[in-house]
Amino acid sequence: MPEPTEWYSNLEKAVASAKERIGPADSRDYHFDRFLKLARRVDEFAPTCSRCKTLQPEMDKMLADMSVNAPQIPINQKRAYLGRMETIYSHLKKTHGLISEGQNMGLWLAIGTAMGVALGAAIQNPLIGIPIGLAVGFVTGNVMDARAKKEGKII
Ligand SMILES: [Zn+2]
Repeated sequence: MPEPTEWYSNLEKAVASAKERIGPADSRDYHFDRFLKLARRVDEFAPTCSRCKTLQPEMDKMLADMSVNAPQIPINQKRAYLGRMETIYSHLKKTHGLISEGQNMGLWLAIGTAMGVALGAAIQNPLIGIPIGLAVGFVTGNVMDARAKKEGKII
């Protein structure tokens, strides 16, 4: 990943001061760590992606809007902030092929469980089928997560 730009460094400082105003307990609700991780990727893609470029001022505004009302942030504003964060994540996911940590694992455990149920039904022994399915899902999920990590695709 390239070095962060000045935009990101400034955003990091803005997050630190927002955290201070909101207080450590309530700060957890705003997932600032995730916000910064998303920002880091937006920063990375901004030179080549017009959407990421427009996300930079949007993220600045998200923080600025909250700072105005902190520490008493209205619930609808909080929801809007979290919703916008989800929008940013889905852009990174769809356009840039990034995923959250553990996402492959969750997916493959679900697939493994379904396979295990099917296998258990086939051999008429769910007590054997399900653990086998889970083990396959676990191993595959691990491999997929490790590969995504190696390719730098984990947010
Ligand atoms: Zn982009």
